[in-house]
Amino acid sequence: MTDRNASSAVPNGQREGGPRFRFAPSPTGFFHVGGARTALMNWALARRLGGTFVLRIEDTDEARNKPEWTQGIIDALAWIGIAADDEHFEGPHFQSAHAEAHVAAAHRLYEQGDAYYCDLSGQDVQDRAAELGITGYDGYSRDRGLGPAPGRVLRFRVPEGTTVVDDLVRGAVSFENSTIEDFVLLRGNGAPVFLLANVVDDIEMAITHVVRAEEHLPNTPKQQMLWRALGHEPPAWAHVPVLVNEQRKKLSKRRDKVALEQYRDEGYLAEAMVNYLMTLGWTPPGAEEAGSEIAGWPEIEAAFALEDVNLSPAFFDVKKLTAFNKQYIKNMPPDEFVAAASVELPADWDRARFAEIAPHIQERLETLKDVPATVDFLFWPAGADAEPVDYDEASWDKATKPEWSGAFLADVIGAYEALGEHPWDAATLKATMEDLMGRYEIKLGKAQALPRVAVTGRAVGPPLFESFEVLGRDETLRRLHVAADRLGSSAQPTGAGG
Ligand code: GLU
Repeated sequence: MTDRNASSAVPNGQREGGPRFRFAPSPTGFFHVGGARTALMNWALARRLGGTFVLRIEDTDEARNKPEWTQGIIDALAWIGIAADDEHFEGPHFQSAHAEAHVAAAHRLYEQGDAYYCDLSGQDVQDRAAELGITGYDGYSRDRGLGPAPGRVLRFRVPEGTTVVDDLVRGAVSFENSTIEDFVLLRGNGAPVFLLANVVDDIEMAITHVVRAEEHLPNTPKQQMLWRALGHEPPAWAHVPVLVNEQRKKLSKRRDKVALEQYRDEGYLAEAMVNYLMTLGWTPPGAEEAGSEIAGWPEIEAAFALEDVNLSPAFFDVKKLTAFNKQYIKNMPPDEFVAAASVELPADWDRARFAEIAPHIQERLETLKDVPATVDFLFWPAGADAEPVDYDEASWDKATKPEWSGAFLADVIGAYEALGEHPWDAATLKATMEDLMGRYEIKLGKAQALPRVAVTGRAVGPPLFESFEVLGRDETLRRLHVAADRLGSSAQPTGAGG
């Protein structure tokens, strides 16, 4: 690789030396998970190699850009750990601020003879192609010697030969120049096209590595020609495979959930998202032996290599992401979990009470957004005047179906009341229920069903006896009684409690 830093313009005050990577999103919508992956790859390499990650906002498409998307990009990057105050971060630069340089480069190419003006409209080009039985533009104005004038486009004079793109992911990719038409650099209104602006900025910003999505590969031979025509050796290229959905179709905004922000807002942890994104087309070291792709950022940063990126499209599997998230929640230090989960709770829920149940739910959650609905029953108004428990009726019906259920509930109440001053703890409550089960010839799962619906309103939830313990003796017994009353007087205790 050629080190061009010595000769090219490194913006004042920025670090000299080291490779320069860039991430160049267009602020046209929510931040795509595929973009996040590309950014992370650039970030890993820039940091490990002691280089720079340049953020360039490609905001020249005025019709589609919105300033708020730019802030969205910066916030989304910060969320996944690409922090603007990190010493390896540079930017954001705005492409729109360099419009003059883009036009100047085009003029230079014209003056050098590497570009020429053409007065055919898009329709003319099509008509001509149809007439000649070809596709695209045939070089009609190559030697007509037209000068600039309104409505004329400036086209690059594609040289003869073969263009070989050395790609760090794909190896050498050859393009026959004869298959590449003389492409437009400046539109009829004088506006530079994306291809050109992108190259001019990369040159200006002394970019040494262009790591981006595969969809840009067809642009690359053209861009490489521009680099050379503008007097520079091209950067190292790397085109990483696209992300696809379950049907193996490219992830799309319309079809798939692709906005990073949405995952963030749904309670996914940044660390889980980052780890998961980096496993798309790449495997952290030791993952196969360990049977797990869970790897923290330092490990990923130390090992990530473009050469190891898999060529096939990568399936963005929300189920797998969710499994990663579950694992990350499970692995959080307890205090950290309580703090992170507390953010999701309504302000008036008692944090101390939540901290008591927290260790019993931490292993079961898929996202932090699940926390309130998992523990809400602990914060319902308590006491004699409280609203009745809001039972999930299907759960209630199922739990009360066995004809022994009412009698069993009454026995549980009796046995729990008979505990008297004995500590109200999960182990005691469990042992007490187990003592009763034998008589009904039922297992713990069945035994817990009605007491669970009675106290939590639902058929699933945190471990039951811990829930009873945290809820406390009085409120647990009160709710068990309310349920017994609702079930009606048909259910008589067997008198076995105590
Ligand atoms: N602005 C382009 C995009 O968002 C980036 C192209 C590139 O990375 O070179 O697709």
